[in-house]
Amino acid sequence: MVCGPDFSILESNEAANIVLGKGETLIGEKCHRALRQNSRPCLDCPLKDTVNSGTIIPLVKYDDRFNEYFEERCVPIISETGQLSSFILTAKNTTKSRELEEKSAQLKKLSALGQISSGVAHDFNNVLTVVLGRVQLMRRLTNDPYFIKSLEMIEKSALDGASKVRKIQEFSRPGIKTLTESINLKTLVEEVLEITRPRWDIASKVKGILIEPVFELKDDLFIRGDSSDLRNAFTNIIFNAVDAMPNGGILSIKTDKIDNYICIDFKDTGTGMTEETIERIFDPFFTTKGVLGNGLGMSEVYGIIKRHNGKINVVSEVGAGTTIKLRFPTIQKIEEKISPAKQKYTGLFNIYIIDDEEYILETLQDFLSDLGHTVQTNTSPKQALSDIKKSHYDIVITDLSMPGISGLELAEQIKALDPAIQLILISGWALNLDESDLENRIDFVINKPFSFEKITYVLSEVGKKLLPARQNQSS
Ligand code: ADP
Ligand code: MG
Repeated sequence: MVCGPDFSILESNEAANIVLGKGETLIGEKCHRALRQNSRPCLDCPLKDTVNSGTIIPLVKYDDRFNEYFEERCVPIISETGQLSSFILTAKNTTKSRELEEKSAQLKKLSALGQISSGVAHDFNNVLTVVLGRVQLMRRLTNDPYFIKSLEMIEKSALDGASKVRKIQEFSRPGIKTLTESINLKTLVEEVLEITRPRWDIASKVKGILIEPVFELKDDLFIRGDSSDLRNAFTNIIFNAVDAMPNGGILSIKTDKIDNYICIDFKDTGTGMTEETIERIFDPFFTTKGVLGNGLGMSEVYGIIKRHNGKINVVSEVGAGTTIKLRFPTIQKIEEKISPAKQKYTGLFNIYIIDDEEYILETLQDFLSDLGHTVQTNTSPKQALSDIKKSHYDIVITDLSMPGISGLELAEQIKALDPAIQLILISGWALNLDESDLENRIDFVINKPFSFEKITYVLSEVGKKLLPARQNQSS
């Protein structure tokens, strides 16, 4: 718009007419009325600041008629005598660009946060590796039930810590979730029942109601996954069941193996759900509990079950109750869970370990020497390489990130010396290596923190590859 010194509109373009004048011309109206529905000149009129300062000072205003942001600019036109003869007033919708700016700032923040947290996660994994390693070594040395129990608690806490660190790593690099544990479903459910007992047992007794738990838990059902995530999912489901039975009821949990699936059903005799509620149960923030709920429980459950390649099914009837049915793929009862003592060794090896963290070296060395292997260690990759040139090693275990050289480069140089050497890469980073990164260099990857079961398992796999070669040599 072009306006005179008395703020009356002399010219208005079509956009102004459409947006502010419902299609009619704005000529003759006051700009403060057309733009802001003010009967007097606006107190924050950008013309004043612009004229006073001598540079154009834009004003950003939120317009609640349109729910959008506008940037207003006045360009004064000064006559030869120095008087304001008129001014051009423009208003530009900046809602979209504001959103883009905000989004890009948010992305930058997240990426910085991701970088910081993945560094922290890496360092934490090293710390936890030593804690877990030492605990596991100590457990082999004691029969005292008190010590065993304490060590088990330390171990479990360290593992939970490791799982939290993995969450941070997933956040900074989503989609790399590793489901490595083989989990005994019965043990897991029993743990969850202990954790949730205050809600379904004690609290309900205080309220004078009875929640009666009924369990049918089969032995020897194993699923592959992340126990801390699954514990969290089962807890959410149980809490919902308890919430649905304000007057008490029966909570039954049943596990079974049907066809090729491991099944677990959580059944309550609570309020049940309407069709609409069932449809929205997995929506984040959907809750029927008002301020008592946050609506995040079941959406989290959904994500966790999906990540475990599982299925979730909700069966519910208003007034009768609800059954949440989970299905997981079966796995063979896997080797990782066989304790080192019971593991059949396929051989004793000459092992070289390289890691720039001395405590990790020592812990691994103690463990592997304990098993009877011959172990040499070094914190310097360069020194290690020259040692490996001089004498024969069956297995080299190397850290991924070390000063000067990466574990991958080192692996390549070692394989060039002797392709028969088996290379195990250990890493505290959230590994996202693809096949081509590993090809011809790395035989196994182990993430920190690792359990000795995992190391033992990998060694027995490595042994399977090494021993036939040895037998061929000797025959
Ligand atoms: P919240 O528990 O915070 O409300 P959830 O995501 O855990 O959030 O659950 C969402 C909604 O699904 C609940 O508010 C409730 O209406 C319904 N719901 C979930 N589980 C049950 C159940 N076992 N019985 C009845 N309703 C349920
Ligand atoms: Mg809930």
